[in-house]
Amino acid sequence: MDLTQHVKAVQDKIAAAALAAGRDPASVTLCAATKVQTDSAIRAAIAAGIRVCGENRVQELTAHLAAGAYAGAEVHFIGHLQTNKVKQVVGKVALIHSVDSEKLLRAIDGQAEKLDLVQDILLEVNVAREESKGGILPEQLPALAEAALSCPHVRLRGLMAIPPVAAVSGDNRKYFAQMRHFLVDIIGKIADNHSIVDCLSMGMSGDYEDAITEGATLVRVGTALFGPRPPMTGSAH
Ligand SMILES: *Cc1c(COP(=O)(O)O)cnc(C)c1O
Repeated sequence: MDLTQHVKAVQDKIAAAALAAGRDPASVTLCAATKVQTDSAIRAAIAAGIRVCGENRVQELTAHLAAGAYAGAEVHFIGHLQTNKVKQVVGKVALIHSVDSEKLLRAIDGQAEKLDLVQDILLEVNVAREESKGGILPEQLPALAEAALSCPHVRLRGLMAIPPVAAVSGDNRKYFAQMRHFLVDIIGKIADNHSIVDCLSMGMSGDYEDAITEGATLVRVGTALFGPRPPMTGSAH
């Protein structure tokens, strides 16, 4: 199968999973995880119907932006973001998925203020409490959500998680369900009705259908679209 067929196959599975869960297929966005992909692979994915690209690394984001590789799609930042690199990301992407500290939150807010814009963000939750992973622990979520809501140049849009790779299909459903509850809790605490906190970014190639069953509104899919990646050097998340 080529990329066009992969995109169609993943879109079909997303729609089927949504319908099976009694959800509108249009309520789930497919974000192509484009790490290590070339400009031409990204252009081909967009030509095949991809409307959102997710980048992991600031360096790749900057290079693809300079090349105009994302033309026709929205770009999101989905990888671990260091505070000293917010300048290269804020205002250049539609959504930052991986805010996991107050320090990073304040840095994003400050840079967005300089640029006179409002940056959409998600808070990343380490839902399975893995030592190696980024993201805040669930009990830290209320405080960070409150901090985000108090930042004038940041708009909190929802939550993101990267649970462990499921050994058995269905294993991650409990984590996805927890994430949905966390989002509902936050929505319940927001007095400002104008906030649109409705995004749940969860599910990757191995488990996006389960994530949709549990309420994902955005799935980040790499391998199922582009095929296997070469082993990564440095930090992948
Ligand atoms: C690479 C990556 C994905 C996609 O992973 P696949 O298993 O290849 O689908 C999703 N989210 C993040 C944050 C990633 O780094």
